[in-house]
Amino acid sequence: MAHVEPYEPRYEPGPDELRILYRKEAQAKRRTEARPGLWMAVAIYLLFSATDLLLIPDVAAYTIVARFAVGITALLTLEEQLRRGAATEWLDVTCAGAIIFGYIGWLCPAFMGANRESVAYYMVFGTIFMMSANLFFTLSFKLSIITSTIILCILYIVNYLVPATLTYKLVFGTFYISCFTFTSYVNWKLNGERYNVFLNALEAKIQHNEATERGKALLRLSRTDPLTGLENRRAIDEKLRDCWSDWQRLGNRFAAILIDVDFFKKFNDCYGHQEGDRCLIQVANALSDLVRQYDGSIGRYGGEEFIVLARMDKKDQVADLAEAIRRTVESLALPHELRRDGISIVTASVGAAFTRAQAGAKLEKIIHEADRALYLAKAGGRNCARLFDPTDPQSSDESENIAALLKIAIGQNLVSLVYQPIQDVASGKVEAVEALMRLKMLDGTLVPPSLFIPVAERTGAILELGRWAIRTVCAELLADDHIRVVSVNVSPIQLKTPGFATSVASILGETGVAGSRLAFEITEGLEMEMHSDVLRCINDLKVLGIKIWLDDFGTGFAGLSWLRLIDFDTVKIDRSFLHDCGTSRGMAMLQDIIALVRNRGHKILVEGVETDEQMALMRDFGIDKVQGYRVGRPAPAASFQAKRAIQKRPFTVLKSA
Ligand code: C2E
Ligand code: MG
Ligand code: MG
Repeated sequence: MAHVEPYEPRYEPGPDELRILYRKEAQAKRRTEARPGLWMAVAIYLLFSATDLLLIPDVAAYTIVARFAVGITALLTLEEQLRRGAATEWLDVTCAGAIIFGYIGWLCPAFMGANRESVAYYMVFGTIFMMSANLFFTLSFKLSIITSTIILCILYIVNYLVPATLTYKLVFGTFYISCFTFTSYVNWKLNGERYNVFLNALEAKIQHNEATERGKALLRLSRTDPLTGLENRRAIDEKLRDCWSDWQRLGNRFAAILIDVDFFKKFNDCYGHQEGDRCLIQVANALSDLVRQYDGSIGRYGGEEFIVLARMDKKDQVADLAEAIRRTVESLALPHELRRDGISIVTASVGAAFTRAQAGAKLEKIIHEADRALYLAKAGGRNCARLFDPTDPQSSDESENIAALLKIAIGQNLVSLVYQPIQDVASGKVEAVEALMRLKMLDGTLVPPSLFIPVAERTGAILELGRWAIRTVCAELLADDHIRVVSVNVSPIQLKTPGFATSVASILGETGVAGSRLAFEITEGLEMEMHSDVLRCINDLKVLGIKIWLDDFGTGFAGLSWLRLIDFDTVKIDRSFLHDCGTSRGMAMLQDIIALVRNRGHKILVEGVETDEQMALMRDFGIDKVQGYRVGRPAPAASFQAKRAIQKRPFTVLKSA
């Protein structure tokens, strides 16, 4: 199983770790703020030279020199520290030192002046240094308290020394101490707030990261197939669009390859769904290893279907990759015992398409072509790789047109049924007819069933057409008792579709026809897999009274195993055996087949009886029923309705009389 972690579980740092984190972050902040802070502080400090000139003009020269000396020294020290990458603590010490020396450097010369009184007033500005230490610079709490305490002490010393009244000293002393207390308190609060802001920001960051991670995980989940871990259809469709637009814009050619695990439903039926899942995972892993070598992408396209997209330059490379894919699955040698084609391991059918220049090309086209190739690979007996060939009639645009035509056939009355009589050899009477479908194009040209039936099967149109045929047969011939039994050709696709038997039962109910009046002819065609659903459906149909006939016996691969599995009422021997009767070998072959079918207890119908000689031969062989141009060609319902009407007329007249 592919494990897609939704996102990393939330990481909760402890209090100590948080402190360390905070300190780190605060340091980073202080580092960036130290330089502009100190430059600004020094600038203001120097501007105060003006007040020196005004208030203490006699010593202003000294104070100004001191200001410049301290300011420039502080800035140079800081710049040098920054250049050397000194620790943040040392930057702080420089700032703190700048505050203290700035204060001393200004106060000492000022104190030397004549006018001590104005110094006494002037020193009030000392509180600004205290504020700088506590509020302006973001020094650590300890350092700012030490700095502001030193300033406070100097203030007290100076306060003691200045010639002033006691009231003055008391007032200013109180002022200094309250200033110290308040600014220290605010500093302490600020530090607490800063820590809270840090916590909130951290929480927001964690939440943001979580949301981003969750978003990414969801995106990953929405693009991943949970079973195999490959990309899912949605993701691969996007890749396909990218490949397509690269091809359109830049001419980069690419291949689309569809891979279908052969008889996978049978595998599930036989080994169970868990084994089925395991099989798909193994196939997916092997293929993704292979595709990686080709720098391609692989995705799960549906139940047992995978898709590979790979940029390639030449058709040969595409064919090689398709074959390599087939071989990879085969070489896994996963046992698959119950398939009926002689192989006992899991294999895959591969259909590949390569970009090719064509007018009005659409993105879906390449997938459609790969799908066609896949269909042909399956038809070719599976476990094979096919490259789409536009010149192949099965792939031609004609079948494209037919597919489109089939969609509108019923609504536009383009489809009809003709009936071919089936004669009972012993009585010589027409006991039944076979319903054969006819399709005409919009211009009235007939399309042979050999062309449109395979297309209808491939596109699934056969489901609706099949229901339509059964309903029409019941309404046209059976409801009015024109014919006793009508056989209808039914494709294995219909039998495989859930609800088919139910839909037949409801048609019988609607038309009031007994099931025993219908026979379903099954041909062993491409879909030779005798799926358990098919067997169940056949049983349900039998319960309805419908007879099951085997059509074209001897032409397919699975005829004999079908004979073993299903109790057919009648087996129709393919006309090719009768037509080969000209040679003694052919004659012996026909006799052998007849003996085989007879020994199994089925009634025998021989198809394609065209001549009197063939008819006589059938009598000699004791065949039950015959069908062919000698008995009658397929004809519209009207001709059978008319015959019955003639037979019925005396009765009708009597009745009306
Ligand atoms: P099929 O069921 O074996 O039908 C018999 C085919 O042999 C018919 O061809 C019929 O016209 C032809 N045939 C009958 N008697 C003779 C004869 O004496 N000599 C020769 N040479 N041919 C004869 P058709 O109508 O072209 O049908 C071809 C096939 O198409 C059918 O083979 C059947 O497999 C399929 N088909 C026809 N209608 C339906 C339908 O409604 N549903 C499905 N699923 N398949 C159908
Ligand atoms: Mg038939
Ligand atoms: Mg037939």
